Amino acid sequence: MSKSIQSVRGTHDILPDQSARWQAFEAIVRQTMQTYGYREIRTPVLESTDLFCRSIGEVTDIVEKEMYTFADRNGDSLTLRPEGTASCVRAGIQHGLLHNQTQRLWYTGPMFRHERPQKGRYRQFHQFGVEAYGISTPDIDAELILMGARLWRALQLKDIRLELNSLGSVAARANYRAVLVEYFQSHHDQLDEDSRNRLTTNPLRILDSKNPDMQALNNAAPSLLEYLDEESAREFDVLKLILDTAGIAYTVNPRLVRGLDYYCKTVFEWVTDQLGAQGTICAGGRYDGLVAQLGGRETPAIGFALGIERLLALQEQSSGQMITDDVDVYMLLQGEGSELKGLLLAENLRNELPGLKLLTHCGGGSFKSQMKKADRSGAALALILGEAEIRAAQVAVKFLRDKTEQQLIAESELINFIRINI
Ligand code: ATP
Ligand code: MG
Repeated sequence: MSKSIQSVRGTHDILPDQSARWQAFEAIVRQTMQTYGYREIRTPVLESTDLFCRSIGEVTDIVEKEMYTFADRNGDSLTLRPEGTASCVRAGIQHGLLHNQTQRLWYTGPMFRHERPQKGRYRQFHQFGVEAYGISTPDIDAELILMGARLWRALQLKDIRLELNSLGSVAARANYRAVLVEYFQSHHDQLDEDSRNRLTTNPLRILDSKNPDMQALNNAAPSLLEYLDEESAREFDVLKLILDTAGIAYTVNPRLVRGLDYYCKTVFEWVTDQLGAQGTICAGGRYDGLVAQLGGRETPAIGFALGIERLLALQEQSSGQMITDDVDVYMLLQGEGSELKGLLLAENLRNELPGLKLLTHCGGGSFKSQMKKADRSGAALALILGEAEIRAAQVAVKFLRDKTEQQLIAESELINFIRINI
């Protein structure tokens, strides 16, 4: 036998046993988005490489070392999207969705990053994200955070906390950058290699370092909040007031800078301590400069993205509850003519009882083996259709989850019987 082919390292199959949890998540997301008036956008998984270089930033982990980039058969450089925001902006500009209007959008789908696979970190993973365009005031910042909190409630997630910061305007960021460079230069011997590289290219990112040896130095660094411009400070106050009044707890973390270049003003992360090192479930912020940077007109913008694998891992861990998609009814087919009779009867039941989850046994086999499968299906009821039942225009009904006696039900009564018992 030849060796079987395995999935690519860092990618995962979502097997039928897990897909009910994914579908339940997707249903909650869809419903929540409707309640806020956000609409779905679906963009291609493949984009021009330039899109990500120009948006995420050349000196970021993603662009420097994580992208799946290749030349296609025409020699064009393409990249499997590592995140969703750049594609939303591209599509918004391309289709004229952004200029002089507001857009509230959401998306979901696979993202690709060539990272070292570990718990909560994969090479193909899934994000759900939200983007709002055309609104510069902090009410929309607050809306996105309230929406996050509502999602966690709907998903019965606990132990998630909110960290918040403001990066200020582009000018304020530049001021702070200079101060920060000076600080790190005076502690040059304490910088790790990554941070030394960042010092000239992207010094704010040093604050984002995951290296524990860098924490003390980072903690003592000058605080971004002291260099905020007046407008950003005022808007940050409004945001905090709305959150305080709405009862949303948060901590202001002046070292929260986010890994992507395009952020300004509000940035935030929803974090849990329950998942070990990969504790950030959801992250986002304002990116007022990005639309113009990608060739559109100046458009204020804010969004967030959440990692679905991490979120579902937390959900499973915190509730321990299995989410299943068992059928309601399992139909056993026994003997001559039962396939014909049974399949047609099953079709009729599906017509008359919309939403009924009915699995028809196909492929024959002994009564005993069919019953075993019925039991394993999780169904509450087994319908047994054998030659004797067919002759008498009846169906034998067995309750699989309690001790109620097996009964014979007239075919004409079956729909009513199921309606009452399921
Ligand atoms: P991290 O700091 O964990 O690398 P990030 O800042 O790179 O995260 P974002 O680009 O903001 O992450 O993506 C938003 C969310 O997507 C993250 O908070 C996380 O939940 C999820 N995510 C990011 N990278 C991965 C990955 N490789 N595997 C699984 N989930 C991921
Ligand atoms: Mg990352």
